Amino acid sequence: MDFRFTDEQQMWHDVVNDFMVNEVGQDLTLKHDLAREFPEAIYRKMAELGWLGLLVPEHLGGMETDATMFAIFCEGIGKYSLDTAACIMTSVFTATNICRHGTPEQQERYITPFLRGEAKFSISISEPQSGSDAAGARSTARLDGDEWVLNGNKVWCSGAHLPNATIAILARTSADRYKGFSLFLVPNTTPGLQIKKMDTLVRRSLGTTEFFMDDMRIPKDALLGEVGKGWQYIGEHLDFERLSIAASQVGNARTALDDTKRYLSEREAFGKKLAEFQVLKHRMADDETELAAARLLVYHAADKLTRGEKATGDVAMAKLFAAKALFQIAFNGMQALGGYAQLPEYHMERYFREAKHGMVGGGTNEILRSIIAKSMGL
Ligand SMILES: Cc1cc2nc3c(=O)[nH]c(=O)nc-3n(C[C@H](O)[C@H](O)[C@H](O)COP(=O)(O)OP(=O)(O)OC[C@H]3O[C@@H](n4cnc5c(N)ncnc54)[C@H](O)[C@@H]3O)c2cc1C
Repeated sequence: MDFRFTDEQQMWHDVVNDFMVNEVGQDLTLKHDLAREFPEAIYRKMAELGWLGLLVPEHLGGMETDATMFAIFCEGIGKYSLDTAACIMTSVFTATNICRHGTPEQQERYITPFLRGEAKFSISISEPQSGSDAAGARSTARLDGDEWVLNGNKVWCSGAHLPNATIAILARTSADRYKGFSLFLVPNTTPGLQIKKMDTLVRRSLGTTEFFMDDMRIPKDALLGEVGKGWQYIGEHLDFERLSIAASQVGNARTALDDTKRYLSEREAFGKKLAEFQVLKHRMADDETELAAARLLVYHAADKLTRGEKATGDVAMAKLFAAKALFQIAFNGMQALGGYAQLPEYHMERYFREAKHGMVGGGTNEILRSIIAKSMGL
């Protein structure tokens, strides 16, 4: 058993961290958050470095890295904001679906521009009446000659409105609860598709949307893989997706705690530094402990996935624990910064808002507990 990164992993960690410090930084992150603006230049730079292709096979032009290297990347890109991390990660998972199940023509049409940073993907599972119970989705797709006709209302589809975005839409092709779903690749400029941006507390840079499909016609070859396999395809990347969120939460928690520590070490009250008050010191010690435990759970789950072992319960534990750790650290940060925590330029309110969403997005804390219980045989 070795709890340290290998030299290669440590080098990768440092490269991503240096990129975040030198090319992104807290001020640019704040600017994107306040302006509700996608970090296009950062996305393009990461594409130039080949980082969008971390999970893309080498024969399709990617880096084909493992779960541990991907977790290191996600910890790094979550450094200043979970939203920045989501701006990159959201596209990655549909790309992996296309690499696994797409035709050579779909791979050429979608993966090549994606790796160049010219295209993005979003994923649409949730509907107004079905979030956690995702299989309750009702949107339909029926074949009419050489075209699929889609109808329905999707919600919370992050990044669907962005230029050159293609949406992976989960829709019903039969009534079977799970085998009744198929997955379709739909460019966001398709006639019959009406996209509306939602005014949310978080995901301000990536943006999230609601959309309506009203007899929306798409070509027959917009189907990804086989009819009736949509649910399976979405499930294939769920462990990676949850692991990536947990890793970015650990990265963000590190920054939130460092910011708190710095503030308490500089600010004075009653003739001494705030960090000298034992109650505040102990709170930070508790937070450091939670963070260390969350990080170990993340890399333990990543290591199992890298070894090709089943890790659904471990990933759920990592995400549940990391979400709670980040929320506690950001909550304590809000208290430590007093009134100044309210100001966006102190960044803590962003960590706090995003930490709350971390308990819902990618599987709520309650659903994760159910997954953990199932992995225990309950
Ligand atoms: C900003 C944002 C971005 C998002 N991006 C996307 C996206 O890109 N694509 C996409 O498809 N979806 C996206 N989502 C949707 C997200 O996945 C859902 O919000 C999430 O799955 C929860 O679903 P819900 O909001 O319908 O809540 P519900 O499922 O209605 O849950 C409400 C509450 O009930 C609890 N609950 C539900 N079932 C159980 C149970 N069996 N046991 C115990 N408690 C339970 C939940 O944990 C929760 O606390 C996004 C959501 C947000 C807010």
